[in-house]
Amino acid sequence: MYKFCPKCGIEINKATNRSFVCKCGFSFYANPKPTSSFIPIYKNEILLYERAFEPSIGKLDLIGGFLEYREDPIIGGIREFNEETGIKLKAKDLEFLGIFMGKYPFKREVYSTLNIIYTVNFKAKIIPKGSDEIGKFLWIPVNKTEDFAFAPIKEAISMINKKLKL
Ligand SMILES: [Zn+2]
Repeated sequence: MYKFCPKCGIEINKATNRSFVCKCGFSFYANPKPTSSFIPIYKNEILLYERAFEPSIGKLDLIGGFLEYREDPIIGGIREFNEETGIKLKAKDLEFLGIFMGKYPFKREVYSTLNIIYTVNFKAKIIPKGSDEIGKFLWIPVNKTEDFAFAPIKEAISMINKKLKL
């Protein structure tokens, strides 16, 4: 993560660069980074998007993203969902699904992620416009095994699949 202390510039031991307390007082812990994602459900289908950017370009991902400083997962998820789809959801429409651990490779570093995932029931199969920056939105049957961008997506979808069968 760090080769040198970002505060005083002293070299950091490679074996401990994911967490360290520097002599200068600066401390760093590579804790998992929280993300918030929403999975729209209509009948037995779910809405995802094909990533137009790295990592995992061209693979299916959930709508959502990393939380910002002090951001609540529901508020942050609603913000990300609105930015990506143009649809403004309400907190009461969301149903908590679970928390899933993942990995996010970014600029030669693999970050640990804590993926907070909610579902939201849609009354129609709305397909958001998408863009060159985000990607293409598509509905897929919940029992379809696809090449997903990240491991937690498969786990989350199989959980929905089990719930819908009840
Ligand atoms: Zn330092």
